[in-house]
Amino acid sequence: MDDCIFCKIIAGEIPTDKIYEDRELLAFLDIKPVNPGHTLIISKKHFADYLETSEEILSKMSHLAKKIGQKIIDSRLGQGVNITNNIKPAAGQLVNHVHMHIIPRLEGDGYKLWHGKKYADGEAEKIKGKLKLDL
Ligand code: 5GP
Ligand code: ZN
Repeated sequence: MDDCIFCKIIAGEIPTDKIYEDRELLAFLDIKPVNPGHTLIISKKHFADYLETSEEILSKMSHLAKKIGQKIIDSRLGQGVNITNNIKPAAGQLVNHVHMHIIPRLEGDGYKLWHGKKYADGEAEKIKGKLKLDL
């Protein structure tokens, strides 16, 4: 897509530190890492976000995320890993091209993903009703 920074990376118009590439996926170092080794996995086909992406590609991204997560642990870049997806601006998505973050984590690195709140009395019951799934 015109004007999509990740499509430009795929086209080779913007250089990146690639760590993996195949016909459908590309993995490279995030330019602003939470910790060194912070990697992004992207689909070579443009999808706006995770929810728009085909199951087939998501499954391949997940497979690759697992391999990269293990590599981060084995290479000692991280003692743990966060694998996250930001979906839509309210959730922090800045680049509108599906990507997974693989973030190396170290004890006491101070990175906090979220602060949990508490449900008011009866609220969880209502929310559960809204989220019930029939698959
Ligand atoms: P988002 O907030 O959309 O989930 O994350 C987008 C990520 O892409 C950010 O962590 C940002 O640092 C990274 N990013 C944005 N532009 C570039 C770029 O040109 N090169 C690389 N390697 N990473 C980028
Ligand atoms: Zn794109």
